[in-house]
Parts: sequence; C-alpha cells; structure tokens
Amino acid sequence: GGHLLELRDLHIEFRTGEGVAEVINGVSYHLDPGETLAVLGESGSGKSVTAQAIMGILDSPPAHVTSGQIRYQGRDLLTLPEEQRRQVRGKEIAMIFQDALSALNPVFPVGWQIGETLRQRLGMSRSDARRRSVELMDLVQIPAAANRLGDYPHQFSGGMRQRVMIAMALAMEPKVLIADEPTTALDVTVQAQIMDLLADLQRNLDMAMILITHDLGVVADVADRIAVMYAGRIVEHADVRSLYRAPAHPYTKGLLESIPRLDQRSGKLTTIPGLPPNLMDIPGGCPFHPRCRYVQQVCLDVVPHDLVLGDGRTSACHFAQEVRDDRAR
Ligand code: SF4
Ligand code: MG
Repeated sequence: GGHLLELRDLHIEFRTGEGVAEVINGVSYHLDPGETLAVLGESGSGKSVTAQAIMGILDSPPAHVTSGQIRYQGRDLLTLPEEQRRQVRGKEIAMIFQDALSALNPVFPVGWQIGETLRQRLGMSRSDARRRSVELMDLVQIPAAANRLGDYPHQFSGGMRQRVMIAMALAMEPKVLIADEPTTALDVTVQAQIMDLLADLQRNLDMAMILITHDLGVVADVADRIAVMYAGRIVEHADVRSLYRAPAHPYTKGLLESIPRLDQRSGKLTTIPGLPPNLMDIPGGCPFHPRCRYVQQVCLDVVPHDLVLGDGRTSACHFAQEVRDDRAR
C-alpha cells in the first residue's frame, strides 16, 4: 500500500544573481498515518525548504522544484489541479513555525483569528466558531481559554502564542502536522512543555507529524523515525532507537556526540569541526568529507549512495557499516 505522504527524489534549485544552487538534491522520505518523523539537520541543510515545498509556500522565484514528486494519499501535489491542491494544503496538511508572532496577525484578537479559519473554511456560524475556538484553546492547554478569546497576540507569552498557533493549525483537523523548529525560540522549560503537548496531540488526535529540528536532543521521546539532512540530501534514515544506539553516518555520530549527557563524567562535549558547505559550492564526492573523521580517498572522488543496513535503515556513507560498528567515542 501507499504511504500517507511521500516525497520521491525531490530536487529544488535556488536561482540568484550569483548562480544556481541545488538546495534539495534527491530527497525521498515518507510518513504513515499516526507516526512522527523527525527531519534533523543544521540550518541551511534544506529541511525547511522541503517542508515549504510540501505546503506550496516556497518563495518562487528564487526557489524552483526541478523534479520529483510530493505524493499525498497517492496523488502528486505538484501536478494536482489547484482546487484539489488547496483542499489538501492547509486542511489535510497544516504547518506551524518557529515564530508564532509572524504567523499571527497582530491587529486581531486570537479568538477571532482561530474563528476566522473555521468560518471561512468550514462555513461555521459565528457562535459555533466561537465555541470551537474555545475548545481548541482548551485542547492546547491555554488556561481560562474562554476569557482569552479577546486578547491580542502580544498579550500572550512566547509559549502561549505557540499554543495559539498550534490551535489554529488544528482547526481543520489535519491528518499531517508539519512543525518547523516549533520550540527553537523558547526557553528550555517551555520547550519541553510544547514538545510534550505536540506528542500528546499527535497521539490523541492520531495525526502524523513531521518534526523539523536542528536539535537531536528534543526528538528522542517524540519521534518514531529520523531522517538526517546534510547539504540538501538525506544522509541517514533510521528508527529512533537504532539511530541513537549506533548511528551509521559520521555526521549523525557527530550530532549525537554534541548533545550534553548527564552521565558523561568528563563533561567533554565534542562538536563537529567546520561548517556546512555553501550550497553554491558543494564539495565533490561526499559533501561531508571536509568535516569527516572517517574520510578516505574514495570519499573525495565518489558520491556515496544510500547503503541499506536492514530494518529500513539507510546511510549515504561509503563506510556506513564500519561507522555503525565503531563504538569508540
Ligand atoms: Fe565520511 Fe566518507 Fe562516509 Fe562521507 S563517505 S561520511 S567522507 S566516511
Ligand atoms: Mg529552518
């Protein structure tokens, strides 16, 4: 059977005055009903761009899908007639962002904004929309929701604003929620609360979720699978447990080693040396080779393709098995 959502060999280019950058180079991933996929990578790895392509909100130009498919329930969103596409995007698939302030309109009360979605898209009456708005605000655990319908976005704390944005995204009862760095702008305590909320909602509403993050620390308790992105490609894909137990790509290994661990007596934190590549000028061979401690001559010459490691795991590294089996830290 098909997947709920499936990206097939997606390619996206950016055309700027300086030239053409292939920001997404053959990305494939899928999502099944009720599961959470974390898409992990540093800023500039292409994880947000991929999500924007799913939602149809790429900045075009400069961004441009050159090939590939984005299939939702078996239909390619890139070729679907506009009317049907609109039914899917924003209704079946909803998205939340890092910055709730930019997603909310500062001049309208939040209750009105949630209600507007319900009135416009579901044709609800004013009173029904109002009642449902309170339910949605309750659902995202905004205290005394009924009393806060008339408040403006700036009257909410950062964490509460994030909850309002989640409530708006849930208004259409989406089957897929895409969360792009939903906690990055928040302090650590609030981050944990919002992640808990998202995990609860995902389970209770039986939604599938794509959680986009640069922070491997936040995904362990929430995600079923992880796709790790680097320089516009997926370099490792695995279920969460296998990936944490034995990462099979040196980049993933580096990310894991840079998470603070309470049980690490030495307190020594490693970071991956160097920076992600300029997408205008991606290194030949393996794009990770300038930063890789396992690098060999072949890595400079030959682009690594996905190595299948069993259990649905893949790693785009010539030495995936050696890396996975090397437990030295
Ligand atoms: Fe490192 Fe080579 Fe694997 Fe790339 S292919 S991650 S350079 S070992
Ligand atoms: Mg981003």
